Amino acid sequence: MNSTTRGGRLEGKKAIITGAAGGIGLETTILFAREGAAVLMADISESALEKAVAKVHDILPDPPRLETVKCDVSKEADVETMVAHLDSWGGVDIMFNNAGIMHADDADAVDTPEKIWDLTHSINVKGVWFGSKHAVLSMRKHKKTNGSIINTASVVALVGSATPQLAYTASKGAVLALTRELAIVHAKEGFRFNALCPAPLNTPLLQDWLGDDAAKRHRREIHFPSGRFGEAIEQAHAVLFLASDESSFVNGQDFIVDGGMTKAYVTAQGPPTEGPT
Ligand code: NAD
Repeated sequence: MNSTTRGGRLEGKKAIITGAAGGIGLETTILFAREGAAVLMADISESALEKAVAKVHDILPDPPRLETVKCDVSKEADVETMVAHLDSWGGVDIMFNNAGIMHADDADAVDTPEKIWDLTHSINVKGVWFGSKHAVLSMRKHKKTNGSIINTASVVALVGSATPQLAYTASKGAVLALTRELAIVHAKEGFRFNALCPAPLNTPLLQDWLGDDAAKRHRREIHFPSGRFGEAIEQAHAVLFLASDESSFVNGQDFIVDGGMTKAYVTAQGPPTEGPT
């Protein structure tokens, strides 16, 4: 049975996902395809994209249209080319500006190198702007009246982080502000903008950092009322909701998917003394 007959929640929609080869991006790709969307997977790493698309095909042998494009979201020419690719499919309905980095040399007010600040902001902030800009142009060109743009921020934009990671935290705060502004400005065109705020996820990066140190893991997990980190698929389900017409009156939100962490962080536990977010 071809997926076009499946009647999914994103049936007939065309989506771009940046950072599609990574944890959240890949899970979202699989979910979007399962729900009937045609997906253009974009990432800076071609080799990671190859592996990611193979994984999608393992899980969904007969997905709707699924293609990949190499794109550095900090380069406007790359973003323009990426969106032009989807223009040839009929224009963007869903743009998930998800690519982001947190650099190992990111630090505090004194020790953050300027070049790390600039690199982080060029990908995490300028990349979201370029993605939003070209998605809006595509939606206008194809006379769309209900586009959805989702930008990945982080809970650190709301509560900070003791890690420290100044450039990253500031960049994610900018994503929230940018998203809010665009949500207000483009609402009359029917284009919605929401920001996803994930809490730290159970990713290889986190696992590597925690190692076998049970006490270190515990010091992080106590900030989650559920006692566990989140999974990428739990972010993907929230993105699916924001992308679908089911969220037609949800606009300009900081959409927090954190198992209640930000509430416990503020009210009960206080900030952690270490750890990546
Ligand atoms: P990830 O590292 O698994 O995936 C990120 C992907 O982005 C990678 O495939 C990478 O190749 C790609 N990428 C990096 N620079 C790029 C660029 N310039 N252009 C295009 N692609 C680029 O990370 P993830 O956990 O899936 O993170 C996705 C988003 O979620 C990021 O914006 C991240 O800041 C945010 N986030 C992650 C966590 C977490 O705990 N994992 C928590 C909060 C927010």
